[in-house]
Amino acid sequence: MWLKISFNHMLKIAIQKSGRLSEDSLKLIKDCGIAIDNGNDQLKVKARNFPLEIFFLRNSDIPQYVQDGVADVAIVGENLLVEKPHDVEVVRHLGFSKCKLSLAISKNETYSGLNFFNNKRIATSYPNTLKQFLNKHHLSAELHEISGSVEIAPNIGLADAICDLVSTGSTLFKNGLKEVETVLKSEAVVIRGRQISDEANAIFEKFLFRSDAVLAARNNKYVLLNAPNEKIDEIISLLPGVKSPTVIPLATEGWSSLHSVINENDFWDVIDKLRAAGAQGILIIPIEKMIL
Ligand code: AMP
Repeated sequence: MWLKISFNHMLKIAIQKSGRLSEDSLKLIKDCGIAIDNGNDQLKVKARNFPLEIFFLRNSDIPQYVQDGVADVAIVGENLLVEKPHDVEVVRHLGFSKCKLSLAISKNETYSGLNFFNNKRIATSYPNTLKQFLNKHHLSAELHEISGSVEIAPNIGLADAICDLVSTGSTLFKNGLKEVETVLKSEAVVIRGRQISDEANAIFEKFLFRSDAVLAARNNKYVLLNAPNEKIDEIISLLPGVKSPTVIPLATEGWSSLHSVINENDFWDVIDKLRAAGAQGILIIPIEKMIL
């Protein structure tokens, strides 16, 4: 059902107030062309040009607010939903705030494999996720739940190991620890509450249409290159494009220009193959929005 959008109805979205997710969440909303003024530390802000109301909340409180219908949708770290499941729907993975929940031990210890953790003391803020992991591997350990600065635990004799969120690993390194196992991989996700009204959901569909275009553009690059005509088939096989590459003849006889799109994930790999296949004058251009 496609409902007409009016400013009589608002979509309420919750995002993290301050912390690792807040800046990227706000950037996604702004890149969707949604204008907001959030200069004065307000906890609730209405967009100027889109029927959206933003609630700035604590990351760990957000799933409950969405489950209760206080907010219709939200952007949160996936790891929160694994640690404490809520009755909400994960609608999109957003590809930012990527991190791992990892087990780490002192860098001076020899790591012998998962059995290392049997009957050890492990400090963590994610006891449920860790328990699931230990059970799956038939390990038993003594868990110490602490809410922050987990990486200090081995140094002060509280634990033999830690289980904490890691992105670059620099915090572990600074505390004399090394990462030895990944318990969970996480990234920011969009969640939707079950109680969302049809009107709010229609606004959400519009929001998703825009954010999909923003995310697709972030994940892809526009590529232009020149190639001798006899190499075009080989080069096309390396460049799937959105439908198929555009081929335009050059003024120089026997040569063509090819235009296409390359995914960020295999970008350098494809560039190497293109060069090996005879492509020249390769230009890479960022894409502003990509509507598929
Ligand atoms: P925080 O800002 O520390 O409250 O973290 C909010 C969310 O950011 C976490 O729940 C994770 O989903 C995500 N995150 C990404 N990288 C990290 C990291 N290195 N440490 C902690 N959280 C991270």
